[in-house]
Amino acid sequence: MQALRSIPRLASVVEMMFADLHLHTNFSDGTYTPEELARRASELRLAAVALTDHDTVEGCERMAAACARASLEFIPATELTAEVDGTELHLLGYFVDTQNPRLLTEMSRFQRVRQNRIREMVARLNQLNIPLQADAVFAIANCRSPGRPHVARALVMGGFCSNLDEAFERLLKKNRPAWVPKFKISAVDAIELIHQADGLAVMAHPGLNRADEIIPGLVRAGLDGVECFHTKHTPTSSEHYVRLAKELGVLITGGSDCHGLNKGKPLIGTVKLPYEYVEQLKAAIARRKSNASAPPSALRTSP
Ligand code: AMP
Ligand code: FE
Ligand code: FE
Ligand code: ZN
Repeated sequence: MQALRSIPRLASVVEMMFADLHLHTNFSDGTYTPEELARRASELRLAAVALTDHDTVEGCERMAAACARASLEFIPATELTAEVDGTELHLLGYFVDTQNPRLLTEMSRFQRVRQNRIREMVARLNQLNIPLQADAVFAIANCRSPGRPHVARALVMGGFCSNLDEAFERLLKKNRPAWVPKFKISAVDAIELIHQADGLAVMAHPGLNRADEIIPGLVRAGLDGVECFHTKHTPTSSEHYVRLAKELGVLITGGSDCHGLNKGKPLIGTVKLPYEYVEQLKAAIARRKSNASAPPSALRTSP
């Protein structure tokens, strides 16, 4: 009797559990340390979080330890910048093996590209008579995966811009004078890179791309999911992507894309992904693992 009564209660607890699967730390362009981020997640009573720093998994070890101390479920992940037919898109890799040699080699290449791009952006700023030094940007970034937000912060700290928005609007946005294009891996290669590192590949914030026509091709290339819930998606566009993900038979994810105090207020927890979607991600990973360990004959559908 006792056990029977606890079943609906357990179901309602799961229904009230939420995750935020898109978060950045100061290992890329966020401002929180992994420990600060885990503490915020715990205060917000999130059930699970994923760390999705750009082109790095370096923060995952500390984040995993901090989440374990707070009894918070942690999913190691990353966010890769990729392109398809000239369109930039971001691919999230969930549950990647953070020790995977090929992933680490490729990421260190992406990080070198980022560092060289900072030098090029600073050279352009210097041509505009803004005497910023690359070392000032690297000191602010203090990580291997620096990006434009660090240049923006350096511009504000140096008194060259009054705020981060102005730095982007006047200088760093695409086609502004200090903008430098970034090398991007092809989306198909990025999906393969995530898969060989045992991860699930998910298209981040498709609402920012407004290029839904590329999604079915990505699914054919192995894309596992779509980030339907995101800070910059309206409720209507979230519903649209949930419908599209269901039609295409792929996973549904979501997260706030919190960069700490970089973009005004911290966004962590403002996008609440129902925990059932985390369970679906975990089930997909379990299926992938059991398929990988099954003998080839068990995978054959016909004799
Ligand atoms: P990068 O990877 O170096 O090209 O930098 C991209 C980062 O800059 C992403 O985290 C963006 O969210 C951020 N970003 C782009 N535009 C702006 C903006 N106008 N204000 C603040 N951050 C921005
Ligand atoms: Fe970012
Ligand atoms: Fe992104
Ligand atoms: Zn992001």
